[in-house]
Amino acid sequence: MTFYRLGLTGFPVSHSLSPKIQNAVLKACDLEGSYSLFPIAPDDRQSLKDLLDRVRSGEITGLNVTIPHKQNVIKFLDELTAPAKAIGAVNTIYLRHKKVIGDNTDAPGFLADLKKFLTLECDSKLSHMQELAPAPQKNALILGAGGSARAVLYALVNDGWNVTISARRIEQAQQLANSFPNDKLLITNYENLQDNLQSPISSFSLIVNATPIGLTPNTHQSPLPENTSLSKHTKIYDLVYNPRETKLVKDARAKGLSATTGLGMLIEQAALSFEIWTGRDPSREIMRSSIAQASVSNL
Ligand code: NAP
Repeated sequence: MTFYRLGLTGFPVSHSLSPKIQNAVLKACDLEGSYSLFPIAPDDRQSLKDLLDRVRSGEITGLNVTIPHKQNVIKFLDELTAPAKAIGAVNTIYLRHKKVIGDNTDAPGFLADLKKFLTLECDSKLSHMQELAPAPQKNALILGAGGSARAVLYALVNDGWNVTISARRIEQAQQLANSFPNDKLLITNYENLQDNLQSPISSFSLIVNATPIGLTPNTHQSPLPENTSLSKHTKIYDLVYNPRETKLVKDARAKGLSATTGLGMLIEQAALSFEIWTGRDPSREIMRSSIAQASVSNL
């Protein structure tokens, strides 16, 4: 019987929910295996290489990768999947035909959860209105231009969205836009966001927070200024999931908008990694309930 030796590398990783999530589904799928933590300090390239050699030898079945190694690992890999290459970052590693492959499940994980979120909202409106509204415009605003913004951008442009990227360092937004030369992207400065946008913020059908603003312990902060005027048609997706209801999400809901945090993305990207390693489609309910008891400080 195969023993699935899985794990997460990054630094720090002690707070990660991934062991809880992955060990729960290994057990639920009746698979022998374990998911462990492999903390590797930011500059320790040798340990990273050694860890990947353990994948190459077959001792380790698969790895997740988090900050700060999502880009550092690339030089130790034999091949990248198309999403990992386009995004320029890897969060899932496995061995195929003696080659160590780097993949990225953040983008499809985000898109899968976004679609669930948008469908749920659409269904609940339909049941009230009993009529089909015209298809909403697919105009999205991404706040932030770091690692997760790359995955979100890849997911959105491949799903046909027009995207505006807003970052406090305009050169970072420009660099991100340059990585997607075939897509018409707008960039804007995050400071004085409302004044800098070409169209009003209420014209966006989706706003995605890909900054850490609002993350515990800074739970009183929101990436949108207090006086931002939003349209009821704008959906808010906050990648931050600790706390379970961020200020951005709470404020949006108080104004009657649909909003969600990134817990669903966390679950979906983990499920996709698990499927790559084991060939099994794990239960999202089991994944979710494995962390339901986790204290907020562990998130
Ligand atoms: P990152 O690579 O560090 O990028 C963060 C981005 O936010 C950068 O553009 C950064 O600009 C900007 N930023 C940071 N603080 C800011 C501030 N006070 N004002 C304006 N902009 C600010 O981080 P990441 O990997 O993209 O992750 C961002 C957040 O997403 C994380 O904190 C995490 O909570 C969440 N996340 C969730 C999931 C999930 O599965 N739900 C997955 C990944 C990430 P500078 O470069 O100028 O600092």
